[in-house]
Amino acid sequence: MVCKEHVAFRMTLSGKTVSVHDTSGLDQVRKRLKLDPGIIRQVRAALLRSFLGEAKALQSVPFDVRHGFAAAVRLHELTPVERRDSRTDGATKLVYRTSDGHRIESVILRIQSGRSSLCVSSQTGCPGGCRFCATGRIKGGRNLTSAEVLDQVVQAGGILAAEGRRLRNVVLMGMGEPLLNEDAVYSALAALQGKDGFNLSGRHLLVSTLGIPDAIRRLTAQFPQVGLAISLHSARQTVRDDLMPLARRWPLGELRQAILEANTCQDREVMIEILMLAGVTDTEADQTALVGWLTGLRVHVNLIPYNSVGDIVFKDAPLRGSPNVRIQAMQEALKAAAFKVTRRRSLGSDIGAACGQLGGNEN
Ligand code: SF4
Repeated sequence: MVCKEHVAFRMTLSGKTVSVHDTSGLDQVRKRLKLDPGIIRQVRAALLRSFLGEAKALQSVPFDVRHGFAAAVRLHELTPVERRDSRTDGATKLVYRTSDGHRIESVILRIQSGRSSLCVSSQTGCPGGCRFCATGRIKGGRNLTSAEVLDQVVQAGGILAAEGRRLRNVVLMGMGEPLLNEDAVYSALAALQGKDGFNLSGRHLLVSTLGIPDAIRRLTAQFPQVGLAISLHSARQTVRDDLMPLARRWPLGELRQAILEANTCQDREVMIEILMLAGVTDTEADQTALVGWLTGLRVHVNLIPYNSVGDIVFKDAPLRGSPNVRIQAMQEALKAAAFKVTRRRSLGSDIGAACGQLGGNEN
């Protein structure tokens, strides 16, 4: 939801009044400039579906009103400030500034030839405060607007289109906790799936959350096709409480009940993410607790290697990633209990773009 003050603030910065993602505002501009509705559809299709960029999108507007249209409509919300390309795995980190000076990041993941994913941010920091995450250390953040979430897709889509690649998947796994910004995130999800928006399949969208039960119910009821990932990390309450301070508000029993309900309204498995931390989430006690907690749920477990975000002391010991043998042991324990389990291949760690590393240059 964009508050009036925020809009007014951005108007003074940009001198433009309506985002291309604001369909009702766009319609007012259209009427004022006496434009055919088909022109607006062409501009949005060029920008949001073909990712042709600003100049080509504006070519659909008749020349005599093009200047007036360009002065009234913002095609972008974010200013690109930096691009870092991985030398090892094809990931690209894109850094932007918002109009009020926050720095946010998105990551392009070129997984296979022609199939690409984009990890987008939903907040400029995160109140989650997870011990293993750089974003959780950023103070004074705010929710992104839906237009700011969507502009990350527009700008990355343009980069991929110029390479002859197609953006296939959009995952809300970047900076921030998406379910603390429900209005903007739901509006963005609707636009991403909309036939007059980005026209992406809900099956290629995914929202990752630390696990807020009531918000999970709202998300899955409204967007049953959109994937849900839960950053569980530990099925032991005390360990989880220490690792993820904000998650203490929603005990594991309540979270499990919400996943059970999500299973009834979605025809896809819920992804359970486990960050593999040596001696913290990878012990035999963790295996037992996790298998017990997951039993009865339709899930796919994703084991995530830890990407260092500096020297972190957790319970009087440095936080370290699990050795391969412990990851293997967790994988075997889950497989033996008949769960689908995969290991995440972490991309972009050489450019500070892997899981947990976003926003790490802020401070
Ligand atoms: S892991 Fe997610 S919820 Fe936790 S601090 Fe980082 S962005 Fe926030």
